Amino acid sequence: MFAATPRELGHIHEYAERYSELSLSTLTHIEHQGFEMPIQQLSLGSSHPSAPCLILTGSIHGVERIGSQIILAFIRSLLKRRQWDSQLNDTLNKIRILTVPVVNPWGVALKTRSNHRGVDLMRNAPITASNPRYQLHAGQSISPKLPWYRGNSAKMEQELIAVSNSILKTTQSASSTIVLDLHSGFGTRDRLWFPFAHHNRPPETLHQFYLIYSQFRKSFPHYELYQFEPQWHQYTTHGDFWDWMYLRHYQQSTSPFVPLTLELGSWLWVKKNPMQLLSFSQLFHPTKPHRIKRVQRRHSTLLSYLMQVLYNELLTQVNNNDRLMLTKKAKKLWYPSY
Ligand SMILES: [Zn+2]
Repeated sequence: MFAATPRELGHIHEYAERYSELSLSTLTHIEHQGFEMPIQQLSLGSSHPSAPCLILTGSIHGVERIGSQIILAFIRSLLKRRQWDSQLNDTLNKIRILTVPVVNPWGVALKTRSNHRGVDLMRNAPITASNPRYQLHAGQSISPKLPWYRGNSAKMEQELIAVSNSILKTTQSASSTIVLDLHSGFGTRDRLWFPFAHHNRPPETLHQFYLIYSQFRKSFPHYELYQFEPQWHQYTTHGDFWDWMYLRHYQQSTSPFVPLTLELGSWLWVKKNPMQLLSFSQLFHPTKPHRIKRVQRRHSTLLSYLMQVLYNELLTQVNNNDRLMLTKKAKKLWYPSY
């Protein structure tokens, strides 16, 4: 079977060649039918190990390429602004931006949600839902030919091993980390999810998620874009990669680690171009250039905000009283039964 190398991989190379301040590394190569594709990491900003870090990941699901494109457009914009914007340069002298724009290159090439082995990378981590609903989308172990296949959760897929090793190495030395993992789903609005997906209890560091949510709301009151919530509000799943990463990080470190999943509501663009209903991969990716630009533009405020949260060290400045107050408000909003 012939599958073209994803365009986005070409862009990663182009950027790294053109801009010397970008650092490019290949986390691994994924082999399929005699061909290899790399998983690449692009970073910029401070290289100090303890620098606060914003991590952006895209295309864990191969059909959700818009995430990769948002990340690449964001990097490009930062590089252009660096040439004249001293405030941005101050920020990037202090914080690091680490990106893995295409986590699942074979999925992108083959236009599938899963990787080339039929495994859904968001159901593959070694973590089991305590209260699974009996629905296929919670993750199934029946067949890789059906969607949401968990694969072998005792041995994660090569893509996740490579990405988790690199990210955990970074988060364990960084003074604080925010992750934004970009997806698109068949919804009518954009959602920001935080752990947990595998059960309905609050995470230990709930106050940090509430802080990010509440400061954004207060600072950008005209932005009504995001439904911010724990992922189980929508559905419970087995094998959630970010649940697993969150638990792994706090086994080794106490530094703040805030993984967020941005689920773009693709119905927002599909309804304007119903022909997209005819193609599975296009359901998750806007096809008209002006619509891709609009999606990219919608989220630039959020990305800049997350950079400023890290630059201003908001997450590490919370005292015990603040923590109690933030946790109380968060429980009232998201966990009324706790
Ligand atoms: Zn997805």
